Amino acid sequence: IKITAIDIDVPIAHGPAFEGEAIRKADMFVEFGGGRSPACELVKMVPAEEVTDGKIEVIGPDVDQMEEGKAYPLGILIKVYGRKFQEDFEPVLERRVHYYFNYGEGVWHMGQRDQNWARISKAAREKGVTLKDIGKILYAYYKKEYAAIVDRLEVQFMTDASEVEKLLKEAREKYQKRDDRLKNLRDDAVDVFYTCTLCQSFAPTHICFVSPERTGLCGAVSWLDAKATYEIDPTGVCQPVPITSEYVIDPVKGEWSSLNEEAAARTQGKTTSVCMYTMMDRPMTTCGCCECILAVVPECNGIMVTTREHKGDTPVGMTFSTLAGMVGGGNQTPGFIGVGRLYLVSRKFLPADGGIGRLVWMPKELKEQLRDQLNERGKEEGFGDNFADMIADETIGVTADEILPYLEEKGHPALKMDPLM
Ligand code: SF4
Ligand code: ZN
Repeated sequence: IKITAIDIDVPIAHGPAFEGEAIRKADMFVEFGGGRSPACELVKMVPAEEVTDGKIEVIGPDVDQMEEGKAYPLGILIKVYGRKFQEDFEPVLERRVHYYFNYGEGVWHMGQRDQNWARISKAAREKGVTLKDIGKILYAYYKKEYAAIVDRLEVQFMTDASEVEKLLKEAREKYQKRDDRLKNLRDDAVDVFYTCTLCQSFAPTHICFVSPERTGLCGAVSWLDAKATYEIDPTGVCQPVPITSEYVIDPVKGEWSSLNEEAAARTQGKTTSVCMYTMMDRPMTTCGCCECILAVVPECNGIMVTTREHKGDTPVGMTFSTLAGMVGGGNQTPGFIGVGRLYLVSRKFLPADGGIGRLVWMPKELKEQLRDQLNERGKEEGFGDNFADMIADETIGVTADEILPYLEEKGHPALKMDPLM
């Protein structure tokens, strides 16, 4: 095991070697977020005078005042000042929370933004670990890996419910602002897509291609973020790949020779061709941190979506975790694919497979989150004003037989499309 040499005064070991460890419920001391309590994380650029370099603060109870087995609210706020720092870099550093948090032995982190989820193990608790220690780890790795752009950095953990609510409000406005900047960018209007291979530490054959209309499957790396990542670190995980006309192999499926070559070069020849716009033929690889998993429901001639948050069964007879175990190791699995939530309402949502009109089932929570955008996209595609309500959810049924009569009654567009397989 390669343990990094940086020296931090904390009672647990740390480094990329601990990234892969999971913490089962039975081994858990406390947890945060994951749908069990409010949580979010935010990296924020601030003026020099608003940040004290190296300050780590816990607002509310720390781990030593927590009760075993419980879920506590958690807000993670990282304030950054740097002469060369730009607002565009915020989401890039924010994604690193996931990695540096996981570097701690006996601490675990999943997800991003306000969909994050973290655990501290009983073993780490026995060693005396606190949130303050985790803050020290985050601080040290940020300062080490982003020395070129970060002059001052401060970490705040909030476990006080009302503080977390306040941060959530601010963070959601920020997330919205970032998403809005992307809204007017189109795949057809740019000359490059970007790779992201950050997840190769978990899934060595995995590579995301990030385009303006398709954010990475973790939901945390947009095309603008990938571009910023490349600007910060020109030899890093995000590399531009030209997609101009001379590289096009199949414009419908979204196959480019340049993407194929890049995939092969960056996966040791394991993934040699990839189609951006279909899940039926050499789809993009899926790693374990996807927000959603799509699967074909042949009986309905459509596609279902489930989310990490949805624990229940789905019309393909598998839960999210079963599906993730099947497709999430960095493989290409035709008929299944991991995606980010917002990709579902992208104009480039699997156009070669029929696009958004194929969506026949999703968890109600996801449908409510995306309702306005689903309806807007449905209208553009000519499915009337209320496409969201044509899509079945767990309250309608969780098998193809249960949802088919509903789709028929609503006149769902998938039923009239060409056979998917
Ligand atoms: Fe990058 Fe994809 Fe991993 Fe997100 S899921 S961090 S885009 S490799
Ligand atoms: Zn991943």
